[in-house]
Amino acid sequence: MKVAVFNTKRYEKRSLEAAAQTLGNGQGIEFTFLEPRLETQTAVLAAGHEAVLIFVNDVADREVLEKLAAGGTRFLATRSAGFNQIDCEAANELGIQLAYVPAYSPNAVAEFTIGLILTLGRHIHEGHNRVRRADFNLEGLCGFELRDMTVGVCGTGRIGTNVVKLLSGFGCKILAYDEEPNEEVMLLASYVDTRDELFRFCDILTLHVPLMPSTFHIIDAPALEMMKDGVFLINTSRGALLDTPAVVDALKRRKVGFLAIDVYEEESSLFFEDHSSDIINDDTFARLLTFPNVIVTGHQAFLTDRALRNIAETTVQSLREFAEGRPCENVIPAP
Ligand code: NAD
Repeated sequence: MKVAVFNTKRYEKRSLEAAAQTLGNGQGIEFTFLEPRLETQTAVLAAGHEAVLIFVNDVADREVLEKLAAGGTRFLATRSAGFNQIDCEAANELGIQLAYVPAYSPNAVAEFTIGLILTLGRHIHEGHNRVRRADFNLEGLCGFELRDMTVGVCGTGRIGTNVVKLLSGFGCKILAYDEEPNEEVMLLASYVDTRDELFRFCDILTLHVPLMPSTFHIIDAPALEMMKDGVFLINTSRGALLDTPAVVDALKRRKVGFLAIDVYEEESSLFFEDHSSDIINDDTFARLLTFPNVIVTGHQAFLTDRALRNIAETTVQSLREFAEGRPCENVIPAP
């Protein structure tokens, strides 16, 4: 089976090839590794490939899916847990089967989230920069201790649950909100009844809900006004959970005291590529980089050796199930 892999990075190529060797005995799966992102202009590159693999910043809207279907694609898998980039309804109508990787390593993202809290809360990044310049002055580096904080976890699915477990070791008060509370979290955190309640009472708020119409811009100007002054926001989920200009405004007013983001609403034109010699045209993004109390990473929370192995193995398993006409275990749930 010919499989077009869009948005290929070296680290992923290695893990996909290794998984195909181990799980597929190297037989039957023939990868075409493509560097470009999948979008309207590049969809033609998949012509003649029965299966297509994409990542978070590829575009799989109706127009692209129609082009893929016309080229003979019948199976599309995203090498990620989020699948908001795919028009699932259109894929269904076009007879393209969909798969994803629901849980390659929720702990990878959870640990990174804790890392962001500790780095920014203790100014570790700034301390590191100063020492490299032989500046050993500690002025401005005073941090806080997590045990003195109330941390709100919005979304307690796979990643949020791991965040709660890791946080519980720090002795902080943990509040949680989810439309479907789970018992594991109840042992370690107190669920609040509404999202607003979570927003009102925590010092640190970390987001782990998927991006959907109901969660688009959940952190907007009115939500920010409900929060404590100086609140610490972390977003390792999806960029569009934040109304970024509203957050920039709140940073300017010190309503938001700290911001750590691994994802950005307009990240598709920036992240995963080297733009160090380019002019950044996104003024909101450029403004974010000027704040001393903001950390931005480029969607790397997932990136561990274990996660890459699991993503590749789950994806190859889905390809094999499709090739053998078996039901796909990791089919994207119906909208
Ligand atoms: P999950 O499906 O296991 O959990 C999501 C939770 O959110 C569920 O418990 C669900 O009930 C809850 N939820 C959904 N809508 C809600 C709402 N409106 N209000 C409150 N709760 C709601 O997902 P997960 O594996 O924990 O992943 C969460 C998100 O993290 C993914 O959707 C993805 O966007 C993101 N992610 C980011 C990275 C990264 O590298 N930065 C990596 C993996 C996943």
